[in-house]
Amino acid sequence: MVKENWEAVIGLEVHAQVSSKTKLFSSSSTKFGTEHNTQVSLFDAAMPGTLPILNYYSIEQVIRTGLALSAEINKCSYFDRKNYFYPDLPQGYQITQFFEPIVKNGIVFIDSNEKGIRIARIHLEQDAGKSIHKKSKTYVDLNRAGVPLMEIVSEPDLRSSIEAAEFMKKLRQILRYIGSCDGDMEKGSLRCDANVSVRPKGSSTFGTRCEIKNLNSIRYIIQAIEYEIQRQIKVLENGEEVNQDALLFDIALGKTKVMRNKEDASDYRYFPEPDLLPIEVSQDKIDSIKSSLPELPDQKKLRYIKELGISEYDADVIISDKAIADYFEELIKKHDSKLAVTWLTVELFGRLNKAGIDITSSPVKANALSKLLDFIVDETISAKLGKQVFDIMFETGKPASLIIEEQDLKQIADKQQISKIISKIINDNQDKVQEYKSGKIKLYGFFVGEVMKLTKGKANPNVVNLILSERLSN
Ligand code: ADP
Ligand code: MG
Repeated sequence: MVKENWEAVIGLEVHAQVSSKTKLFSSSSTKFGTEHNTQVSLFDAAMPGTLPILNYYSIEQVIRTGLALSAEINKCSYFDRKNYFYPDLPQGYQITQFFEPIVKNGIVFIDSNEKGIRIARIHLEQDAGKSIHKKSKTYVDLNRAGVPLMEIVSEPDLRSSIEAAEFMKKLRQILRYIGSCDGDMEKGSLRCDANVSVRPKGSSTFGTRCEIKNLNSIRYIIQAIEYEIQRQIKVLENGEEVNQDALLFDIALGKTKVMRNKEDASDYRYFPEPDLLPIEVSQDKIDSIKSSLPELPDQKKLRYIKELGISEYDADVIISDKAIADYFEELIKKHDSKLAVTWLTVELFGRLNKAGIDITSSPVKANALSKLLDFIVDETISAKLGKQVFDIMFETGKPASLIIEEQDLKQIADKQQISKIISKIINDNQDKVQEYKSGKIKLYGFFVGEVMKLTKGKANPNVVNLILSERLSN
């Protein structure tokens, strides 16, 4: 909790790895988790005489992202060199976009779409390599060197750690929907720097900010920003000033620490990259990318509520993850949306939770569940037996049709057959029949139970009711 006379101001710089199989300026693979230095071309290692070759797929993904965030696409942008020296940067500079980014002025809505967070820009740049410190030695792994990153920069519109986390989650959701980044924070495909300042409540100017580098989980974003807000308030309440520092978040201590201060901030001597042509994007290209965008989560939610009559709660659950929404869409191709919601959010999620697995690795795919629902809807089996069949499908991966066949679960709807069974039950339980007829109507359930017992739950309840009520009333 922030003390009531202070207000936090936060802006995020998000690094999202473009879902490209190859690097931004070379054909090396971007695959995660391979042996050190196995994905390094001569260009990635900055051998003299090598030149960058632009990966247009990455350009398209940044445009897609910009369009999904209602942003402007810059029809002529270009790359710049950001000069600095670091062992994991063999070129001695990073190719990035400083003066003219591809994307400007977008927006991301948070807080049930009540609040818009402005996106200042999205630019494309190369990732650096990785320094690995072991004992007294440092090793350099260049597998990541040159991997395409989108840097998505927000305006300082966020006012709490929770809003920052919500913004990050919403952004991740959108990136996953359009597929421009896999959003996998554990693998480092999505991380952010959080710029944090505080000011007296009611003030219209911003305080001095600190920048917490490289936060790679939603939890750390919340913890680091929360800690930093309190730290800055303490500094200011002591009559001191906040220094504009770059900070690191120490996970073990739960504290931010100074990495470098403003005095040793580098002068990057930006200048236009002479080895690459400007990026020209035509209106036709923008239009065609726009028309290829899938339905976005907010649109989907609205459609589910308005057209399918799904509750806001269920709609939120379903759209939260594209894989869930895709699963649901497959079910409603043939089935009623209410039926699909129940079987997805109660039956499937219950089993997935119990097994501790994600929907993407569900042993029952959407089309297989859809077939099970066919058998329930056409009354081949009862809904109750359907749940048993689902259990077996989940365990064995067998299709519903095979399980129903093997276990002989087909519903009995044949009137003669059910009538015979009911006759037997009435004969065997004359005392109960008399009691029922003399007013103990609660016994009705007993007779239904007997029918189900004899048919192993397979009798069609409607047919049973029809015949049983007729027999007991005369
Ligand atoms: P730089 O390029 O020096 O990092 P920018 O003006 O581009 O500076 O801002 C970087 C990030 O810092 C943006 O996300 C922006 O919203 C945020 N930011 C700018 N000023 C403040 C502030 N006073 N408090 C918190 N965040 C800020
Ligand atoms: Mg910055």
